[in-house]
Amino acid sequence: MASQLAYTPVEEIPKIHAELLSTFKSGKTKPIAYRKEQLAQLIYMIKDNEDRFFETLKADLGRPNFESEMLDTSITMSEAKYAYDNVEKWAKPERTPWDFNWFAMKPTIRKEPKGVVLLISPFNFPLFLGLAHMAGAIAAGNTVVLKPSELTPATAQLLAELFPKYLDPECYRLVNGDVPVVSKLLELPWNHILYTGNGRVAKIVLTAAAKTLSPVTTELGGKSPVIIDPRCDMKLAARRILWGKFSNAGQLCVAPDYALVPRAAQDAFLDACQEVYKSFYPVDPSSSDSFSRIVSEAHTKRIKRYIDETKGKVVVGGQADVEKRYIAPTIVKDVPLDDSLMEDEIFGPVLPVVPVNDVDEAIEFINSKDHPLALYIFSQDSSFKAKVANNTESGSVIANDVDIHVGTTDLPFGGTGPSGSGYLTGKYSFDTFTHLRGTLDNPWWVDAILLKGRYPPYTAAKTRTVRKAIAVSMPPRPGQKLGKRWGLWIVFALVSAISAILMKRQRQ
Ligand code: NAD
Repeated sequence: MASQLAYTPVEEIPKIHAELLSTFKSGKTKPIAYRKEQLAQLIYMIKDNEDRFFETLKADLGRPNFESEMLDTSITMSEAKYAYDNVEKWAKPERTPWDFNWFAMKPTIRKEPKGVVLLISPFNFPLFLGLAHMAGAIAAGNTVVLKPSELTPATAQLLAELFPKYLDPECYRLVNGDVPVVSKLLELPWNHILYTGNGRVAKIVLTAAAKTLSPVTTELGGKSPVIIDPRCDMKLAARRILWGKFSNAGQLCVAPDYALVPRAAQDAFLDACQEVYKSFYPVDPSSSDSFSRIVSEAHTKRIKRYIDETKGKVVVGGQADVEKRYIAPTIVKDVPLDDSLMEDEIFGPVLPVVPVNDVDEAIEFINSKDHPLALYIFSQDSSFKAKVANNTESGSVIANDVDIHVGTTDLPFGGTGPSGSGYLTGKYSFDTFTHLRGTLDNPWWVDAILLKGRYPPYTAAKTRTVRKAIAVSMPPRPGQKLGKRWGLWIVFALVSAISAILMKRQRQ
C-alpha cells in the first residue's frame, strides 16, 4: 500500500480544466444513461476495493474497519446508489404551478448541468465527503475535479490509482496536492465549487472564487452544542452522545462538541457517561480496536493543549501521545464557558460538560456564538424541544440523537452563517450542481387574447385592457376582511375555457 502521495504537477491543472470543459461542451455527460453508468462505476470502485480502502483509512486515521464501513464506504455507496435510482426523476423538466397569466406559455424548468465542478474535500471522511458529493455532481451531468485532503495520503493515493480505472478520465479527474495545488485550481473559473473544511480556508476559497465569479457551496464546521434536559433518559443520552463524540476520534463536523447541563443534573449525566464509557472500552482505548487516531501530530498537539489548559476537571481519559497521534476518549466536567475547551471546534474525542443554571442560560450562550452546524437536544418533553428549536439557529436541530442526520435520505444537510451555505446529500446534492433553466414557449394566439395591448401605440383602450390584466389582487389590509369576488371567478373560468379550446385547436 502506497502512503507517499504523488502531487499533481501544478502546470497540469489548467490542462485538466480545459479538457473537462471541452468534454462538457461536447455533451458527453448529459445523457442519463451515461450518468448512470458512471455512478455505477463509482459504486463498484468502492465495492471492489473496500478492503483496500479499509487499509488506507487505517493508515491515515487509525480507524477501525467497522467505522470505515459504517461511516465512509457504505454510506458513500448508498448515496451514489440513491442518485443512480433517482437521477431520471430528478433530471425531468418540471412545469411551474398553474397560473392564469402564464399557463399558455408552458413555463417549464429544465434541469441542466452547471458545467465543470470542483470539489475540495477534507481529511475526516475521505470517501463520503469526496465521492458521495461527487455522485451528486455526476448525477447532475457535470464534469468533475475532486481534490482530496493531503492529510490522508494513503487514501488519496489509492483514489489516484482507481479513478482512471473506473471513471471516464475525459470527464472525472482526481487532483492531489496541498496549498499550491489548491491555489492553482482556484485561479480557474469553475461552474461550481464545493468546499468542505474549515472556515479559515473557506474565506480563501470564497475570495478566489469572487475573482472568477465561480459559485460556491461551503460545508464548514464549528462547535455543535448539546442541551440536556435534566428529566431526559440520561443513559440513552450518554450512550448516543459518547458514540457521536468518540467515533472517528471525534473528527466529525457534526460531532457533539460540548454538553450544556443544568448544574444540579451534571453528576447524574456524568454517572451515566462513566457507565457507558466502561461498556464502550472494556480494555484501555489505546489498545482497543474500536477507537481511531487523530489525523496528524499537529492536530493531536492542538487537542492536547485544550486538555492541558482546561480549568475543568478530567473525569475520564485525558491521556495523549503526540507521536502516536493518540488522544484518549476524554470527558471533562465543570468546564467554564470561557475555557480552553470552549475556544474553537475541538474536532477530537474530548467532551466538555458545561454546567448552566437552566435551559435559558444554555440558549443565551448558544445565541452569543456563531450559528452551529448542528444543535442537539436530549429531552422527552416536546415543549422543552420546541423552546430550544424556536429560540436558536443552526444548520440542523436534532432531538435525542447525534450525527445520524447526515445520512438521512433527503433531509437537507448544510450549515448556516459561519457553519456553511448550501445544502447537500440526496436530491439536494443533485440540485446544488444543477442549473434551473427557465423556459417559456408563447403561442401566437396569446397576443389575440392576453397580450395584445402591450404593443405600441398605447391607446386608451389598450391601456384599460392591460391594466385590468395586470391588476394585482390585493391582500386585505391588516384588520380588514374582503368579500368574495364571484364576478372575477366567472370571468377567470370563461377565459380559461376559451384558452384551453384554442390550445387544443393549435395542437390539432
Ligand atoms: P483539511 O486540512 O483536510 O483541509 C480541507 C481542504 O482544504 C484540503 O483539501 C486542503 O488541501 C485544503 N486547504 C488547506 N489549507 C488550504 C489553504 N491555505 N489554501 C487552500 N486550500 C487549503 O481539513 P480541515 O479544513 O481541517 O477539515 C476540518 C474542518 O472541516 C472542521 O471544521 C470540520 O467541522 C469541517 N467539516 C465540515 C463538513 C461539512 O460537511 N459541513 C464535513 C467535514 C468537515
